[in-house]
Amino acid sequence: MAVKVPEGKIYHVPEDLEEALDEVSDIEISPRNMGERIRKNDFHVEYGGPKWFGSIYMNFEVPENEDEVRDNVIQIIGPDVNEVEEGSSFPIGMEFKLWGSEITPDYDEFFMRNLADSMEQMEGLMGVNTKHTWWMRISKDVADRLTLKKMCQAVIALTKSAFPIAEKMEARIIVGAPEVGGPELIQKILKEEIKPKWEKSESRRLGIEDDDVDSFYSCTLCQGFAPNHVCIITPERMPFCGIMSFRGAQIGLEIDPHGYLDDIPKGDIIDSAAGQYTGLNEYIYEKSNRTIKRLNLYSTIKYPMTS
Ligand code: SF4
Repeated sequence: MAVKVPEGKIYHVPEDLEEALDEVSDIEISPRNMGERIRKNDFHVEYGGPKWFGSIYMNFEVPENEDEVRDNVIQIIGPDVNEVEEGSSFPIGMEFKLWGSEITPDYDEFFMRNLADSMEQMEGLMGVNTKHTWWMRISKDVADRLTLKKMCQAVIALTKSAFPIAEKMEARIIVGAPEVGGPELIQKILKEEIKPKWEKSESRRLGIEDDDVDSFYSCTLCQGFAPNHVCIITPERMPFCGIMSFRGAQIGLEIDPHGYLDDIPKGDIIDSAAGQYTGLNEYIYEKSNRTIKRLNLYSTIKYPMTS
């Protein structure tokens, strides 16, 4: 049974995507905002982060059943950005659901990565990590313009505009303020509802090993703020963000073949114990702007992944 939560405020995103995006156009959304850091003295409000570890979640779900998604609905439970005092800090639960007739639940990782990417591109929003370690700060500079409702509207409209396979989408944000139920409410939902979903999602990735495939995937999305960074994603090795598994990367490349993901043939084995291959070395040398010459997939000390 679902954990009981207050109803909060319900908003509806305009059906017309141009109108929806126009309504949030006073917030700049651009790759140049990625990697923005907002210091302690500069934030209006903070959600999640080290202060609230254990009382945070960010979940993206692609249910099989169309009826599980309330299209264009945004539900904000707890105070929004413009309703709190400067310097406030809260636990947070963020849930996004998306449904499409042509997609399956294992599209969740691709859309989760896209979600984090969209938020990190927003002016005056610092977004760090994902899932149970999500950390978000809204700067004083945009506190009179950027709300959680507006953030969700931008994410929904951007996702639907970029990916027509996203037919229905909704967002629910729970700010763990004392009047809503505090960190205890977030912890309860995390334990009883969200973690079982993560376990189910992770179980879909099991059963395939690195030796079973001839090529791996790479991701360079984080080059927006770390220019030489390249992740290699293998069946047994998740990247640093912890979002994009081998299967997720496979789906991401199908959806967006000219985006930030690549398919890389392994080439010949140089060292099987360390996980070093000719194809990966050649690829990573080029993609790291010729700064990394070798990569050992299974070492954190000698020629490790860039980070
Ligand atoms: S896979 Fe690597 S490069 Fe891609 S988003 Fe995750 S951490 Fe960044």
